Amino acid sequence: MVFANSHLMMNHLNKIAFIAAHSNASHFLYPKKKNDSVDAVIDGELNDGKYELFDRMNYLVKEEIKDLVLNSMEVEFENDSLIAGAVSMALCYIHRMEKEAQLDVQMSSRILVVKASEDNPAQYMNFMNTIFSAQKLNIVIDACILDNDSGLLQQACDITGGVYLKVPQPQGLLQYLLWVYLPDPSTRERLTLPPRAQVDYRAACFCHRSLIDIGYVCSVCLSVFCTFSPICSTCQTTFKINAPPKLMRKKSKKSLASS
Ligand SMILES: [Zn+2]
Ligand SMILES: [Zn+2]
Repeated sequence: MVFANSHLMMNHLNKIAFIAAHSNASHFLYPKKKNDSVDAVIDGELNDGKYELFDRMNYLVKEEIKDLVLNSMEVEFENDSLIAGAVSMALCYIHRMEKEAQLDVQMSSRILVVKASEDNPAQYMNFMNTIFSAQKLNIVIDACILDNDSGLLQQACDITGGVYLKVPQPQGLLQYLLWVYLPDPSTRERLTLPPRAQVDYRAACFCHRSLIDIGYVCSVCLSVFCTFSPICSTCQTTFKINAPPKLMRKKSKKSLASS
């Protein structure tokens, strides 16, 4: 919340939105649709002279997270979260804000993913599609990793020009957020930020959704498979079985973009 407040404080035109990615759904935490009964409660609780914008946001986000946790007590947890869905929600929101903005206002938007869950190769396709949409819209994706490294987010940051950082000491999270993620991309060029991480560019096979180093790629639709099959399951192209199957090393950015 301190980081979010700092972002709003940097410039009075700055805006912020919060989306929570859970293991079974993604939730929009802030901003919320106008709700008079909630507004009345907030106005009743927040009248001790604090800055209204910050206080309102902090209150709403805290309440929404509390609701989210309480409502999902009985749900079985997976070890991963639906980041791809949450990032698409963010892209849609940014798109709407840009459409609603006045004509003379040039918006520059970015997405910061704070992640403490594991990667799920099953999300590979969805995630890649959201990354390329973000790249096309000139939206930078930053990633702040609290647990194990995430290959998907390394690719996202590399492709969109964002900063990827696995926080060495989670106790100092706020310091990392403020120093690394608060400056906008144009200011970052003048700063000495943590060096770029080694990007894990492995692709997930379309048959089992597991990450592979070497696999077979369909020469027509560029789908990746871990075992040779005479018919491509994506585009139904039939291959001659006697022909030497094409081996694929790391998939390049270009071929991913067009797949
Ligand atoms: Zn497979
Ligand atoms: Zn194919």
